[in-house]
Amino acid sequence: MTSQATRVLVLNSGSSSVKYQLLDMRDGTRLAVGLVERIGESASRLVHTPSGDGAGRRERTGRIADHERALEAVAEELALDGMGIDSPELAAIGHRVVHGGLEFSAPTVIDDAVLAEIERLVPVAPLHNPANITGIRTARALRPDLPQVAVFDTAFHTTMPEHAARYAIDVATADAHRIRRYGFHGTSHAYVSRRAAELLGRAPEELNLIVLHLGNGASASAVAGGRCVDTSMGLTPLEGLVMGTRSGDIDPAVVFHLERVAGMDTDEIDELLNKKSGLTGLCGDNDMREIRRRVDAGDAAATLAFDIYIHRLKKYIGAYYAVLGRVDAVVFTAGVGENAAPVREAAIAGLGELGLVVDAELNAVRSGEPRLVSPENARVAVAVVPTDEEMEIARQTFALVDA
Ligand code: AMP
Repeated sequence: MTSQATRVLVLNSGSSSVKYQLLDMRDGTRLAVGLVERIGESASRLVHTPSGDGAGRRERTGRIADHERALEAVAEELALDGMGIDSPELAAIGHRVVHGGLEFSAPTVIDDAVLAEIERLVPVAPLHNPANITGIRTARALRPDLPQVAVFDTAFHTTMPEHAARYAIDVATADAHRIRRYGFHGTSHAYVSRRAAELLGRAPEELNLIVLHLGNGASASAVAGGRCVDTSMGLTPLEGLVMGTRSGDIDPAVVFHLERVAGMDTDEIDELLNKKSGLTGLCGDNDMREIRRRVDAGDAAATLAFDIYIHRLKKYIGAYYAVLGRVDAVVFTAGVGENAAPVREAAIAGLGELGLVVDAELNAVRSGEPRLVSPENARVAVAVVPTDEEMEIARQTFALVDA
């Protein structure tokens, strides 16, 4: 790598989409942000912005057949602004990889052996890892000489002790099929934990945090001294909190019941619990803005959905308080956590005995900056810290290749 190489391209490849950002790691500037969606369909779309602030947006429509064509189109867009992926300023490409199993607890430079390991994990992440692998293969073909780094959603959670990571099922069966709690959103939990420590002016090692990543997917984690000790997602991202379309925690016997009594097959139940449950299943909407609008208008289904969402959130705050023993801050992040003041207010309401209080005025402030929403003299801080998974992937990637 040349000393002028300070840029990292971050790729987040989904089954029919690629999200990307080009960042300059000297100062964290976002040089380009974009998205290719509906890959393989007739109405594919590429939206490219040659800056972090949305200015100069360009759009392409028309069929983009596969991930290879998608990345070629991204490379062309970057080249239009003189930032092509053949540029000597590009230090590495950082790939989001959803499942790293127990094998990967840190960002890893990808070679053939690493790629084979990620492929071996497909059975535990059939929805996500194949798309990530396609993205990696395509990017390696475009720039075989460039370091490509995998940053895993599960890595931050590999510090969980066995008593938190194991399900209470037959050990031989669990081990034969690698069934355990892996956790997800780890890149976000890692980033937000570190930024929360900065906000509090303390070293991460000194702090016990409860981090609530509330987006369309949602997860909670208990972080002690910068290390994850428990998290709410499990073998897959289905476990835990109520989400936009996922049920979160459910009695597993519901699955047998649906099979035996409702006559549903495995794929139908999978679809029900992952795509048609959560807020969508409860009230037909998964967007918290719309749900709050309906709650304010007196809609009963939306009110019940909101109450179930909050009840589950409170249970996890209480559980992780008990796991940690002492809590320095509860930190809200992601689309709902950063923007929905009523969710923060309701989740913390009634927890004064635990030292948790929200200041109504501070909670109402809208801002893209990390901030406290608890009163100055609060025993436990309540904070909002906007997440930035791309920045974290770029940071981890650059730290590895710049070493
Ligand atoms: P994410 O997955 O982090 O992008 O979060 C997406 C979700 O954030 C959406 O589905 C909405 O439920 C929620 N969201 C985004 N903006 C707002 C807002 N201004 N108020 C309430 N919820 C919001």
